Amino acid sequence: MPVLSLPALIPASHVWTADMHELGLTMKILSIVTGALENQNAGRIERIKIKVGAFSGVVPELIEDCFGPASAGTPAEDASLCFEKVPVTVSCSDCGKTGEIKEHEFTCPYCGSDHIRIVTGREFYIESIEVSGS
Ligand SMILES: [Zn+2]
Repeated sequence: MPVLSLPALIPASHVWTADMHELGLTMKILSIVTGALENQNAGRIERIKIKVGAFSGVVPELIEDCFGPASAGTPAEDASLCFEKVPVTVSCSDCGKTGEIKEHEFTCPYCGSDHIRIVTGREFYIESIEVSGS
């Protein structure tokens, strides 16, 4: 099954902020994947891989709930959504290390400092889609 790598296809302006609601996000996902499909010689979307940061505020289950009805009648109907969680990592300006933190714990996992900066965990984007021939 061919796999389209989507970050290359999505202009930077399509990198979303976390304050969009799930239905809006679902519609955005649909428009991007069906738009990507138009440029390919492909018929249907089988699977959509999505990266979700633990800190993105996006609830994958809600996206799945929206996706079924929203995708009805589109080439993405019945596509499976595959969410890949991205852990929250921070970099510490006191000890210089980068590490993963637990949810709601905003201190450096190594030295306990609160001089930390979020490195990953806010992501929300489509990583790739799998399509089948027309
Ligand atoms: Zn530290």
